[in-house]
Amino acid sequence: MLEVHRTYRSNIRNYSQVVDALDRHGWSASKLWNVANYHSRRVWEEHGEVPNHGDLKDELKTHPKYKGLHSQSSQRVLEELAEAFNSWYQKRTADGDARPPGYRKKHYYDSDGNRVHEEHPRSTVTWKQKGIRHDSEHNRIRLSKGANHKEHPSARDYILVEYETRPDVTVENLQQVRAVYDQQTGQWELHLVCTREITTDAPGTETAGIDFGICNFAAVAYSTDDADLYPGNRLKEDSHYFARAIANRDDSGGRQATRLYHTWMERQTHFFHSLATHIVQRCVEKDVGRITFGAVSDTRGGDNWDPQGDLDLHGWSFNRFTSILEYKAKCEGIELIEVPERHTSDTCCVCGTTDDEHRVERGLYVCHACDEAFNADVNSAENIRQDINQSNSESSASLGEDRSTGWLAQPAVYLYDLSRGFQPRTEVVECKP
Ligand SMILES: [Zn+2]
Repeated sequence: MLEVHRTYRSNIRNYSQVVDALDRHGWSASKLWNVANYHSRRVWEEHGEVPNHGDLKDELKTHPKYKGLHSQSSQRVLEELAEAFNSWYQKRTADGDARPPGYRKKHYYDSDGNRVHEEHPRSTVTWKQKGIRHDSEHNRIRLSKGANHKEHPSARDYILVEYETRPDVTVENLQQVRAVYDQQTGQWELHLVCTREITTDAPGTETAGIDFGICNFAAVAYSTDDADLYPGNRLKEDSHYFARAIANRDDSGGRQATRLYHTWMERQTHFFHSLATHIVQRCVEKDVGRITFGAVSDTRGGDNWDPQGDLDLHGWSFNRFTSILEYKAKCEGIELIEVPERHTSDTCCVCGTTDDEHRVERGLYVCHACDEAFNADVNSAENIRQDINQSNSESSASLGEDRSTGWLAQPAVYLYDLSRGFQPRTEVVECKP
């Protein structure tokens, strides 16, 4: 049985009743962060290593600041800090200027530059199972207070929040609640993390293979003698446009450049979600139970890579996409498997001949043994589907004489539209290198 997490953002209906308590807990989280940060820096200076969250918990669980939050919420702060120190520790080797995680303080200065006062920002507070009581009937949650905030004997031990989600959302199996302070609106909101058990059976036992590339971001080959292409020109255009626009800002690394970068990433995320949704829908239609995809590395080289070396189209982009796809596939009971990509582009998916002489021209893979030409990306995708590097997999020969090959030459092409997602296109798109 598969479990997936789903996070729902929600508003707080009884805001004025809970805002003070949330503020106090947000400040407490910052104070605990600072105490743990100070401790971690001292350990680093004395011993040259950074403590993990277990060490931090042993050291700080009796500290007064630990009681500013429910114990599981305090533990979460220590985990976040340990993660931040750990990633700084890793980064140090490559970048000597990397700085350790900072303290969470805001400073205010007068006109002469003297520090006049400082305050703590409101950090995100996370409540886990033991700190939550959920009344799903009335959309209410009790969030346990830290011991330090239970000062009045008559006061409640918990913050009672009434939440409001989108009408189509049902909050069930609540695992975690995060109170997040939005600096821009100056308001708290809740992120409700729920688990969903996936009991859905796979749509069927057919298989699909995906090849990733720059020209065609994804080519999908199905065991049902179908193939789909998803051109990546939109991503490529964005990549060129935004990379240049960011470079042309005077304030590289500043506010304008950061805003451009965010816009770019949002557009990419939208593309990825639309594409993953479309592929999964197609898989459901075709009774697919398993999707294989080629492992993507930065060192693919060859014609797939744009000479300008698109910033956003390296390995991590594909990794981001595959994790979105994996999630959406899981929800339909379809498993996603990564397979080696070796020889998938220079092997004929019909006869299995591997030959350097195979020329890929204008997006076509030409096999002299078969005397046929296929779409090169579909050929790769079909090899990935068959997992040709696995000795015990379905062999190329099993494609069978009765299986037609026309589909390998004429895949369906889907083009991306920002408002409508992926739409079929009748003509074949050519990729000029
Ligand atoms: Zn062949």
